Amino acid sequence: MSTLAERLAAVDEGIEEALRVAGRRSDTVTRIVVTKFQPISLIEELIELGVRDLGESRHQEAEVKAREVAASDVVWHFVGQLQSKKARAVRGYAGVIHSVDRESLIAVLDAPAADPVDVFLQVNLTADPSRGGVPEPEVERMTERLVGAQGVRLLGVMAVAPMDEEPRAAFARLRAASERVLAIAPGAAAISAGMSLDYAEAIAEGATHLRIGTAITGNRPRRG
Ligand SMILES: *Cc1c(COP(=O)(O)O)cnc(C)c1O
Repeated sequence: MSTLAERLAAVDEGIEEALRVAGRRSDTVTRIVVTKFQPISLIEELIELGVRDLGESRHQEAEVKAREVAASDVVWHFVGQLQSKKARAVRGYAGVIHSVDRESLIAVLDAPAADPVDVFLQVNLTADPSRGGVPEPEVERMTERLVGAQGVRLLGVMAVAPMDEEPRAAFARLRAASERVLAIAPGAAAISAGMSLDYAEAIAEGATHLRIGTAITGNRPRRG
């Protein structure tokens, strides 16, 4: 069995290698460790190892963790599907929300704020409307909506690769969506893509924010 430190180091080496192949500099990506379902003790261990960007996907769980984890310089990334009625609470602890994908969600976030929340527009790369994300044809309209909203700063686009498509091809489509966003919001150049099994392909297609769980944490405990 490998240790957490070894798995983190191995993933970081894999990231470096993918960046080198893509001709990109090391400081062009943020590696987020997704800790959903994992205990606080594992998060504390990650913090000891220098991790500061943590990802969670369920509000109740994330809220408790954000309260109980002592380190004050952690950035919490909310990566899961988000119900509008929970959006205000999530914004209370999350530095970045990766899953903005609906008008109703933007309506809740759209309020003057001293400290705007960073958001990604999630794009649905599948044909299944129950998956999170806006359909690709709606990218312009939703970008305009986000640019016009107060209290949010649009960083860029986010997606999860479909199960039934080569990840690199899917991430190429995300990159095309990113270019369409950039035509409207020139500062929103970030791309949140790449998980444990496909981060190298995401890096090849320009990902700037990698959301990596099990390759670093090991298997998630089962929740019943
Ligand atoms: C769980 C999750 C991840 C991490 O997935 P792994 O396969 O464990 O790396 C990334 N993004 C989202 C949206 C997730 O829900």
